[in-house]
Amino acid sequence: MAKMKNCPMCGKVFLATPGRRVCIDCREAEMQREREIVAFVREHPNSTIAEIIEATGASEKMIKRMIEEGRFIEFSQNIHYPCKKCGKPIVAGKYCKACYERMQKAIRQAHADQMLAHLRKKSGGSAEKEKSTYSEGMQNIIGKLLG
Ligand SMILES: [Zn+2]
Ligand SMILES: [Zn+2]
Repeated sequence: MAKMKNCPMCGKVFLATPGRRVCIDCREAEMQREREIVAFVREHPNSTIAEIIEATGASEKMIKRMIEEGRFIEFSQNIHYPCKKCGKPIVAGKYCKACYERMQKAIRQAHADQMLAHLRKKSGGSAEKEKSTYSEGMQNIIGKLLG
């Protein structure tokens, strides 16, 4: 899955892997920034997202990503944002528990459907090819589910 792409922060070409969105230099700077943000929230657990942005100079996007990753849960329950599906306030992830469980169920069903379709399709293509067709199909379905 690794591929060359331009770093979204500095524009440098780097080898992007699923867990790496930016180049190593920017990742390091970002980690430092994240440590500052976490330290700030730990000291000011009642601060809002807007206050964190103001105090740390971080972008809203970055804070939101960190919240989604659950980075603040252990010391702040105050930082919440709406579930992408139903709008209920949540503190981590993209969806509330109910929406998440509903989606997991739908994804499992989609997986089963894809697997069946995959098994039926006894094409002469290579296993690698079939695997990528399979995961593309899954990505389409998951993409639709997530809206
Ligand atoms: Zn970079
Ligand atoms: Zn929800």
